[in-house]
Amino acid sequence: MIKGSDFLPLPGPGEPPHVTRFAPSPTGYLHLGHAYSALFAFEAARITGGRFLLRIEDIDRQRCRPEFEQGIMEDLRWIGITWDGPVRRQSEHIDTYRAALDELQRIGVIYPCFCSRKQIRIEIEQAGRAPHGPSGEALYPGICRHLDPAESAWRIRNGEPYALRLDVGKALALTGVLTWEDCRAGVVEADPLSLGDVVLARKDVPTSYHLAVTVDDHLQGVTLVTRGEDLFHATHVHRLLQALLGLRTPRYYHHNLIADSSGQRLAKRNRAITLRHLRDCRRTPDDIWRMIGLSAETNPKAL
Ligand code: GLU
Repeated sequence: MIKGSDFLPLPGPGEPPHVTRFAPSPTGYLHLGHAYSALFAFEAARITGGRFLLRIEDIDRQRCRPEFEQGIMEDLRWIGITWDGPVRRQSEHIDTYRAALDELQRIGVIYPCFCSRKQIRIEIEQAGRAPHGPSGEALYPGICRHLDPAESAWRIRNGEPYALRLDVGKALALTGVLTWEDCRAGVVEADPLSLGDVVLARKDVPTSYHLAVTVDDHLQGVTLVTRGEDLFHATHVHRLLQALLGLRTPRYYHHNLIADSSGQRLAKRNRAITLRHLRDCRRTPDDIWRMIGLSAETNPKAL
C-alpha cells in the first residue's frame, strides 16, 4: 500500500533530537493514512530519542466532536503510539492566536474581508479568469484588499461579519525573499503568493488553520514538522507568518500519501479503512503496521 520512497530524517551532527507532532482534527475517526502520518512522526522522534507531541486541531467547532477526539486517542494507543507531555487543544488557545492577529494588524499586513463564497465566485466568473492555486482552486481575487479603511470600520461597527486575510504582497515586501528546508525537496524558496491572500481568522472562528498551526509549532518547540505532501504548499504561508511574527522555522518533511489499491487517496468518509473498523474486524496493531508498509519488526530507519 505504501509508496517506498519515504525515509526517516535524522538530526544533523550536533543537532538535538527531533521534537515532532501529530496534529489531527477531530472531525472523524483515524484511517490508515492518519496512522501512517502519526507513526512517521512518532518514529522520527523515537529513533533519535526525541519527543513526540499530540495536538488536537479543533478550531472548527461545527465539525469537531468530543467522541472523535476520544476515539483518536484510543486508536493511537491501540497501535502503540504514546505521546509526551499534555495534549494541546487549539480551542483552548484562542487568545494566543488573537494576540498574533493583533501583531499582524499592528504591522499592517491583514485586512477585513466581508465577501461571501458566492460573491467571490461571481467576481471570478465576471472577471473571466482568475489565478489558480497549486491544487487548481481559484484564488481570492482581492475584492476587499483595497477597501477604504473608513468603510471597513463602518461595516464592522454595523455588525457585518468579516474574516481577516493576509495581504501577502504587502507582507512579502516587508520580509523579502524567504526559504525553508524540506528533508526531501531541499531548500525551498517560499512562494506564498501561490496561495493568494489566505484567511487568518474566519468569520465564525477567530483564527484559521494556517495561523494556529504556525503559532503552535513554535510554542510547542517542534523542530521537525512531518505531514502529508498535500500540505507542502501551505508551508509557504507558514514560513511567511514565522518571519512576520518572529517565530522559529522548523525543518519539514512532507511525506508520501498512502493510497488504496486503485490508487485513490484515502478519505475520511471511507469507513472501511478506519482503525476502528479494522479493529472491529479483528485486525491487530501488527496488521495495521503491515498494511501501511511497516511491520513491528521493521527497522524504523528503513521506513
Ligand atoms: N490538522 C491538519 C489535518 O488534520 C494537520 C495539520 C498539519 O499537520 O500541519 O489535516
